[in-house]
Amino acid sequence: MVLAQVAELVDAQVSGICGRKAVEVQVLSWAPFIFLKQIRDFIMNITLHHGDLPADIDFGGSVAVDTETMGLNPIRDRLCLVQLSAGDGTCHLVKFDGENYDAPNLRRLMSDQNVLKIFHYARFDIAVISAYLGVITTPVYCTKIASRLIRTFTSYHGLKNLCRDLLGVEISKQQQSSDWGAAELSPEQQEYAASDVLYLHQLKEKLDEMLIREDRMEFANSCYNFLPTRALLDLHGWPEEDIFAHS
Ligand code: MN
Repeated sequence: MVLAQVAELVDAQVSGICGRKAVEVQVLSWAPFIFLKQIRDFIMNITLHHGDLPADIDFGGSVAVDTETMGLNPIRDRLCLVQLSAGDGTCHLVKFDGENYDAPNLRRLMSDQNVLKIFHYARFDIAVISAYLGVITTPVYCTKIASRLIRTFTSYHGLKNLCRDLLGVEISKQQQSSDWGAAELSPEQQEYAASDVLYLHQLKEKLDEMLIREDRMEFANSCYNFLPTRALLDLHGWPEEDIFAHS
């Protein structure tokens, strides 16, 4: 919404100077890009940490969490990055070098019973966090499970789809398959990583409204509570098998 207004403003500025001398246009034509960059930095207030969160950080009652890894197999592919947001437009990135996974502050937050951890596809992140940080993440909320339980009119439950359908926000998935183990993360990688957690609080709010409306909240809560077990089954040899199935 803000970006659209800024774009309009920039459009107005650009068209306003079109009639003036060419040299002025050349100089001022940079202005919109600088302006947009500042707005983007403002919206995405990103702080990069190495190895752990600072001890004094407070996310309030719920924190949006996502991870980036070397690949999709938590046993083979190491944890590279954990992204966190309090849902206020700011994001904290914790980068891991592959050697040291002590991270006492991050571990404490993951098991803090007073802080709800909001994920999109929590099953994978809980497994990776368990494998590398040695902590079972609870309590948890998963926007993908909420969507599957309530948006039964569609088979599209990806984060990009949810952001578009429920919030009218377009997020880019361009950096998804980039090298998250690199010594330095590019600004594009950092922005992508941040965008994966910035909207989870807003999505939870919309999904909860629907879950309450259709009386599926308890059902959803039971599924979230089972998620750590589901993640441990993945890590301990039952990644695909449906243990509830008859055969
Ligand atoms: Mn991600």
